[in-house]
Amino acid sequence: MQFRNLKLVSNVVFGRGCFNQLDEILAPHRKGDAPMIFLLDHFFEGKPLASRIPLRGKDKIVIVDVTYEPKTTQVDKLAQELKEEFGTVSGIIGIGGGSAMDLAKAVSLMMNNTGSSADYQGWDLVKVAGVYKAGIPTLSGTGAEVSRTTVLTGPVRKLGMNSDFTPFDQIVLDPELTKDAPANQRFYTGMDCYIHCIESLEGTFLNEFSKSYGEKALQLCQNIFLGNKPWNDANDDKLMMASYAGGMSIAYSQVGVAHAVSYGLSYLLGTKHGIGNCIVMNHLEEYYPAGVKEFKQMVAENNIDIPVGICNGLSEEQFDAMLNVSLGMKPLWENALGKNWESIMTREKLRALYEKL
Ligand code: NAD
Ligand code: ZN
Repeated sequence: MQFRNLKLVSNVVFGRGCFNQLDEILAPHRKGDAPMIFLLDHFFEGKPLASRIPLRGKDKIVIVDVTYEPKTTQVDKLAQELKEEFGTVSGIIGIGGGSAMDLAKAVSLMMNNTGSSADYQGWDLVKVAGVYKAGIPTLSGTGAEVSRTTVLTGPVRKLGMNSDFTPFDQIVLDPELTKDAPANQRFYTGMDCYIHCIESLEGTFLNEFSKSYGEKALQLCQNIFLGNKPWNDANDDKLMMASYAGGMSIAYSQVGVAHAVSYGLSYLLGTKHGIGNCIVMNHLEEYYPAGVKEFKQMVAENNIDIPVGICNGLSEEQFDAMLNVSLGMKPLWENALGKNWESIMTREKLRALYEKL
């Protein structure tokens, strides 16, 4: 038996207002006059957070468009432009939701690796460390701040650059930064965390490491999203730690049915990760009965609309494309349904599930 030797984020700072320590945190990682590059989620363009970024020397803020989830072409272009402008940089700092953080991880790696980021979509294909990188979440739930992947849509696949070089060197967990997230977005991304917990805790890969983190994250999600309470600052603190713990849980197990199906939607229809998982979770009673019941209660109590009918009118070829992407996520299915998963989740059965969405 080969056990995973998990590579973790090296430094973590947590607390309301800890963003103010960024200058001091980055100082020892500055290499001569090579700049720090801040990839800032476009939501914050012109907002007060942008002017709190501690710029020194040739440092630069690059506003990143996260209307669509990150693409390999976007990563390659950003890295190429930085190489042309500066030669080398001291570090890449991603400030935003999962998309901006994933862009920062991938651009950091591509500052030191040759070719296209598409060449590294897969497991352990990255061979050289990137430049120093830090992640600063402004939405909580994806676990991208702790994971060893950066999810990219490339020319032929939607797959992460999974490697020991991918985790951040530093994360800055300041719950104040998530304060202005719209209720819908906060819910969808928060449910990504809830679904990570259910898929990890109900999966066949479960072990005490994943269980410890998963149970804590689940308890935090229940505390936040159940009980018809108005949103308050403490919830931002809790959800940030739920995201961290949920990410740690899946890091040592795997996600499951909702993610495997949602990847197909996202590949074909561009459905975003959080909402896509919710659309699928809504129909998974057969696999996660208690989790789905509770999920529906959270949806109702928080007055959230989950889209339905998104696969209406798709062609045979389109269904086939989604089925292929989804069935390609073998470890997810194995975690969810066991070694025999192929005899349980047949193409017909999965097709019927997609038709319901
Ligand atoms: P997101 O980063 O795609 O952002 C969603 C929207 O929220 C954007 O319009 C953004 O501008 C806006 N936004 C961000 N912070 C805000 C704030 N504080 N206030 C108001 N608006 C804000 O959303 P997400 O759900 O955090 O991330 C999804 C992405 O993360 C996907 O690209 C997905 O593939 C990726 N992901 C990565 C991992 C990983 O382990 N690397 C895991 C799960 C998901
Ligand atoms: Zn997820």
